[in-house]
Amino acid sequence: MIENELERQTTHLEMIASENFTSPAVMQAMGSVFTNKYAEGYPYKRYYSGCEFADQVEQLAIDRVCKIFGCSFANVQPHSGSQANGAVYAALLQAGDKILGMDLSHGGHLTHGAKPNFSGKNYNSFTYGVELDGRINYDRVADIASIVKPKIIVCGASAYAREIDFKRFKEIADSVGAILFADIAHIAGLVAAGEHMSPFSYADVVTSTTHKTLRGPRGGIIMTNNEDIAKKINSAIFPGIQGGPLINVIAAKAVAFGEILKPQWKEYAKQIKANAETLARVLIARGFELVSGGTDNHLVLLSFINKDFSGKDADRALENTGITVNKNIVPGETRSPFITSGIRIGSPALTTCGMKEKEFEFIGNKIADILSDINNTQLQIQIKAELKELAQKFVVYSKSTY
Ligand code: PLP
Repeated sequence: MIENELERQTTHLEMIASENFTSPAVMQAMGSVFTNKYAEGYPYKRYYSGCEFADQVEQLAIDRVCKIFGCSFANVQPHSGSQANGAVYAALLQAGDKILGMDLSHGGHLTHGAKPNFSGKNYNSFTYGVELDGRINYDRVADIASIVKPKIIVCGASAYAREIDFKRFKEIADSVGAILFADIAHIAGLVAAGEHMSPFSYADVVTSTTHKTLRGPRGGIIMTNNEDIAKKINSAIFPGIQGGPLINVIAAKAVAFGEILKPQWKEYAKQIKANAETLARVLIARGFELVSGGTDNHLVLLSFINKDFSGKDADRALENTGITVNKNIVPGETRSPFITSGIRIGSPALTTCGMKEKEFEFIGNKIADILSDINNTQLQIQIKAELKELAQKFVVYSKSTY
């Protein structure tokens, strides 16, 4: 199964906006002997013996992440982005407190207060969304906040192609006395390179996953400049909601953070944006509608709201040709969440493979060809062969290593 997955990853074009290819060094750390070690607690304050090297590796991950984002405190133990967000709420809220986050159907994440999620069950959650132009209207968010008076405002998204104005969110949070919580899971790699506004001067607490644009192992992190919040977060993670940290994953986080601190990271982040921009330009030129009319970051949202096929149809047609994306709800959605009227396409993984504007222009045109004649299976077979050849020219892994 692992070999089959390797084959899939190296013969398809990976364009899911939340995925990436980690380096072999990150995977080696993840598969290392640290997987055997219990290290409940924090560096130099553990409940188990034999933690001297676990202490060093966790401290290294903390130091590196603080250096990347210019922040004072970090917790690198969350097993995932959702765990990180759960810990923020557990640290700063009581059950039933009000939270205000971006609506799931407008690009927010489940953990920002969606009703089927713990964040919508344990807390009294309210939402803001995007306008029909696909953008957040900050004045509208301010109005909602003034009515709801939430204890926490969550900003950050899973499917939003435009820059998030953390400064404006801070003004809104201050106007109602709310804590500002920024979830930068999708854009963290861009923030790290100065390619997206940083939330650290504005947000009281910031979380991220480590496996999306940060290109590390699957996991989460929590960061803050506030010592009191940092202490509460540490207790919320352990003993609050987790037991032993995954030291092997923390070692892999340290490796990934080391890669981010290298000068090449800036080039990578710039290229992610240039590639997404190229994709947006080609798709618009070929007559497709993009939510918000373009992109400022690593993803584009294509809308088929005025077309006779759905996001699910588009997802399947692209999958048939070896392009992996995901269907996505769009503003003004008329179809069910299982069908949708859009797809989300991201550039981070193929940028890791070394693809640039030329390849994204080619891929964008192939996507347009497929979607312009969505039931043409003969065309899909022909394009699949061309795209497989392209994917194999840019593989990042070799069979001998894995
Ligand atoms: N926050 C945002 C904005 C996300 O997009 C995601 C994942 O898609 C998460 C949190 C949750 O991360 P995980 O899947 O690691 O729990």
